[in-house]
Amino acid sequence: MSFQIIKGDITTWAADAIVNAANTSLLGGGGVDGAIHRAAGPELLKECRTLHGCETGRAKITAGYNLPARHVIHTPGPIWRGGHQNEPALLASCYRSCLRLAEENRCRTVAFPSISTGVYRFPLERAAAIAVEEILAFLERSKVVCEVTMVCFDDKTKTAYDAALTRKESSRSR
Ligand code: ADP
Repeated sequence: MSFQIIKGDITTWAADAIVNAANTSLLGGGGVDGAIHRAAGPELLKECRTLHGCETGRAKITAGYNLPARHVIHTPGPIWRGGHQNEPALLASCYRSCLRLAEENRCRTVAFPSISTGVYRFPLERAAAIAVEEILAFLERSKVVCEVTMVCFDDKTKTAYDAALTRKESSRSR
C-alpha cells in the first residue's frame, strides 16, 4: 500500500478514481468542483443530475468522461461554522465514504483534493490531520485500494499535509 502527497492539478491525474469536493446539489460549483466538470465535459453534469444530490459526509460515484480518471467520487464536505457543528466528524466521514465507495467499485488507485479547505473554510491543519488519519487507517485494512494520492493545489496545502503525515508517523513510532 502507498500514500503520497503531491502538488498538482487533480483534473490531470490518471487514477481509477479522483474525488470531487462537491456541494450537496452535485450540480457543479467553483474551485475543484468547477475544474473537474470543465475537464470532464457536459456528460458529467448529465449523470450528476440523475443522482439527486448527496448529503454532507456521504459520497456518490460517476464515470470520469473526458478526464484521465476512470471514475469521479463526489463528496460534499462540511462548511466550517466554528467547529461545534460536527464538522470534524463529517470531514472524516467524507474520506471514509469515498474510500468505501472506491473499494466497492474495485478502484485500486484513488486521488483526493483537500476537501473543505477552500471556499468551505475548514482550518487547513485540522483538515489535514483528519485526512491523513482516515486514509492511513483505511489503507491498512483495504484489500482493494492500494494507492492513495493527496493532490494539493498549492504549496501551503502541500506543506500542511506533509506536516500532518510527519506528525502521524512520529506518533506511531513512539
Ligand atoms: P471546498 O468547497 O470543499 O472548500 P474548494 O474547491 O473551494 O472546495 O477547495 C478545496 C481545495 O481544492 C482547495 O485546497 C483548493 O485550492 C483545491 N483545488 C482547487 N482546484 C483544484 C484542482 N484543479 N486540483 C486540486 N485541487 C484543487
